[in-house]
Amino acid sequence: MFAKTYRFRLIFYSALLVIFLSATLIYSYKHTNDVVLNEVKNNLDRTVQLFNSQLISERSELKRFSNIVSDDLRIQEYMFVVVRVGSDSKPLVKLYERLFGWLPIDRKVIVSDNGEVLIGSKHTDLTTWVNKHKRQVMGNVYYIESTNGLELVSISPIIYQEDKLGFVALTRRIDENWLQAHKQSSNEHLFLTKNGQILISTLTHTDTKEFKLQDNKLSINEEIFITYPIALPKIEKNSPLLWFAISETQLINTLNNHGQITLTLIATSSVVILWLGILIFRNFSKPITELMIITREVSEGRLPRMEKSEAQNEIGVLANNFADMLQVLREKQAEIDRVHKRLEMSSITDTLTGMFNRRHLQEIFPKLCAQARREWRNISVIILDLDHFKKINDDYGHLAGDQVLINFSDILKKHLRLNDFLFRLGGEEFLLISINKNIEASISIADKVRLATEKSIVTYNGIDMALTVSCGISSIKPGDHDTSALLPILLTQADKALYEAKNLGRNRVFVHDDTTGHGVDAIQINNTSNI
Ligand code: GH3
Ligand code: MG
Ligand code: MG
Repeated sequence: MFAKTYRFRLIFYSALLVIFLSATLIYSYKHTNDVVLNEVKNNLDRTVQLFNSQLISERSELKRFSNIVSDDLRIQEYMFVVVRVGSDSKPLVKLYERLFGWLPIDRKVIVSDNGEVLIGSKHTDLTTWVNKHKRQVMGNVYYIESTNGLELVSISPIIYQEDKLGFVALTRRIDENWLQAHKQSSNEHLFLTKNGQILISTLTHTDTKEFKLQDNKLSINEEIFITYPIALPKIEKNSPLLWFAISETQLINTLNNHGQITLTLIATSSVVILWLGILIFRNFSKPITELMIITREVSEGRLPRMEKSEAQNEIGVLANNFADMLQVLREKQAEIDRVHKRLEMSSITDTLTGMFNRRHLQEIFPKLCAQARREWRNISVIILDLDHFKKINDDYGHLAGDQVLINFSDILKKHLRLNDFLFRLGGEEFLLISINKNIEASISIADKVRLATEKSIVTYNGIDMALTVSCGISSIKPGDHDTSALLPILLTQADKALYEAKNLGRNRVFVHDDTTGHGVDAIQINNTSNI
């Protein structure tokens, strides 16, 4: 049953959406991590390759520069003059500066075949190294350890007309500027090391000079780097080494950031979905549930009040229409109730006098009996019959008779006390049921009515009419008596007493005497008070 409700489905679909979204994001996060790591590896290989080819082209460039110098005919001729003729080397220096001073190199030396330094005599380390390795390195490019740390050297022989005169050596320093210039991005670094010590690096600050690898990884300043050795052509085995490194820590941080963003996204979207669910619930499910409860109440016969919705949406309009419908139904129901009450009243009251009729007497008598029984009191029936009423009708007309009846009922109503109930039995015959302490109270009220009637004058169409009334009373303490049989008995007894009152001259009150079964004039009772 619950499974089919709109609310359940809403919760179920929202939960499905949250699970689906979370699973997608978690999967994509994990997958992205793998892809990123894989891509980083590939990228790293490519970056190292790129760096290598950059170094190769840098070497070829330096080689080209030294070849340009050694291939220059004027340099060759000047060299010939200096080396073979024995002239001063100054013109050669000037010529070089004029022709090749612009070359983007760090150091230059030109040395004759017999070891004499013609240009760059201050670079003794370089000339010594080249002289030492001359045979091996001529025409090639090498990285050497120099006073500058690591240095790229290109040596080209200077030959004039097949006469080997000497060589030119050009260098480019691998210093911090060089490292910085070759670094591609912020998480890439270059290191120059020797004997496990960092000579220079692109790191701005390091606490240690130690370059200690573990599984190709380097830990500096609490940052882990993945390192790649860069193979360089060189002669000496223990000359400085060049390393390319990428920060694994930064990479992991980036991935962690990505993970956190993904998790935040999962949490946010879950909250948004739940929030949407609550919104849908509040906007749709709640008013629908309220409508459901109210329609159930209506189907059970009630017409509850319904708060008007302020929402202007379809459900709000529907709820308001329903509230209006309930209001109309309530008004109709109130009208029906009013008509019903009127009908009910007219069915139990007499239209002329407004008193209860015989039908209502039958209905109410058991209740009055129960009340008398509860209070341990007497229930008395007093039948009041106007004397010679027929004559009034005959003498003055039926309408005059009606007026007399109305006047008499007013007298009766005036004398009514708490626990007195009036009925019109028919014609000019009325009944007063009284719940009181004893029969004297009933005699008293009957006599008061009789006297008031006697004194009253009814005027109709300018004619004054006098009237009297006779009363028959029967009274009993209900006790164990059968209630259903009690009313006819009391009515018969009171009727009998009334009959005797009529027979004895009218305008008097007669009380039924249980012992004799006859009526007794109330005057006697008042005198003796023995009934
Ligand atoms: P008694 O003193 O013996 O009671 O004589 P009575 O004339 O009062 O009694 P009776 O029973 O002979 O007459 C009652 C009359 O009441 C008869 C009837 O025409 C008249 N009557 C009955 N109902 C109405 C009514 O609603 N309006 C009028 N005007 N007369 C009614
Ligand atoms: Mg009468
Ligand atoms: Mg009568």
